[in-house]
Amino acid sequence: MDRKVLVIAEMKGQKIRNVSIEALTAAKQVAGAGNVISAILGTHSAIQVDLLSQYGAEQIYIVEDSDYDEYHPELYTHAVVKLIQETQPDVIIMGHTGNGKDLAPRVAARLEFGLASDCIDINLDASDEIVISRSIYSGKLFEKKKFNSGPIFVTIRPNNITPIQQATEALTISYTVEKPSITLLIKEIVRRAAEKVDLTEAKVIVSGGRGVKSAEGFKVLQQLADVLNGAVGASRGACDADYCDYSLQIGQTGKVVTPDLYIACGISGAIQHVAGISNSKFIVAINKDPDAPIFEVADYGIVGDLFEIVPQLTNEFSNILL
Ligand code: FAD
Repeated sequence: MDRKVLVIAEMKGQKIRNVSIEALTAAKQVAGAGNVISAILGTHSAIQVDLLSQYGAEQIYIVEDSDYDEYHPELYTHAVVKLIQETQPDVIIMGHTGNGKDLAPRVAARLEFGLASDCIDINLDASDEIVISRSIYSGKLFEKKKFNSGPIFVTIRPNNITPIQQATEALTISYTVEKPSITLLIKEIVRRAAEKVDLTEAKVIVSGGRGVKSAEGFKVLQQLADVLNGAVGASRGACDADYCDYSLQIGQTGKVVTPDLYIACGISGAIQHVAGISNSKFIVAINKDPDAPIFEVADYGIVGDLFEIVPQLTNEFSNILL
């Protein structure tokens, strides 16, 4: 079956988010000989339109309006509903980002579409039906679901689908949406100090727990993360102890991450923490307790003091990589 698939692309600063490129590859997988369309909102949208066509978007709707530079739930919901009514897709895909988590259920409810959120894969089975995979019970099980009627909105977890370049000649369409009257006024957006690498999209994460002992101790982890071009994460134990900001928390009630390499330093490996890291490709644990549960999920374990081991790793990697 040939399907029309719409990808809602997102910008981070002046760049298209990686997960939007991954969404295009997912869209190609399920479109068959159908169409892959992309839509992007905000005044920076035109900057990287070529990138969308390199990854398979055949039509690109651009809503170039500064009112969409920042996410506004009502404006975005209205605009995306209009884009869907205009393009009539069978499947809509976007990243399971902060915005995706908020927008997808709003749009799906408004249009009475099915919704599959936080998927790690979307593909076709032997009978050409769409099958999505997502993790359940805090990452202990994976479920596969089929949707055999009606359009569906799917959000995909970053770092799970390998982007494949499939260049097409894209038609760019400038799209204007009449704005609805809004009830929600965003008075201020307070940004945290800019992270160099987004935690949810990072390929390498160096994460610290209560064993790091202080905010100062996190600087040692940051040095290793910098050398590896990675991001720093944390356990809830470290956040509760005020060693770092809650925006770094990984786990069941924090962020779910899927890096290629997760280095857990001074983290015991509580089930609620592991729920957020179980999809990492390689887990390395550094802990001075040889019986710490983190070693049960780690691919490589180092028993020892993180304050001795992490600087040594930073040194070794700097010699190799810098
Ligand atoms: P600890 O369990 O205290 O472990 C510290 C570790 O550091 C120990 O293993 C110790 O051996 C090691 N260590 C100490 N010093 C050193 C050193 N110098 N070198 C090397 N190792 C050292 N937790 C999360 O992380 N994320 C969540 O999203 C989350 N959600 C939760 C939701 C609920 C409903 C509940 C009840 C709990 C949740 N928790 C979550 C908390 C979780 O249960 C644990 O309490 C928490 O993960 C423990 O953090 P920790 O591993 O940093 O601390």
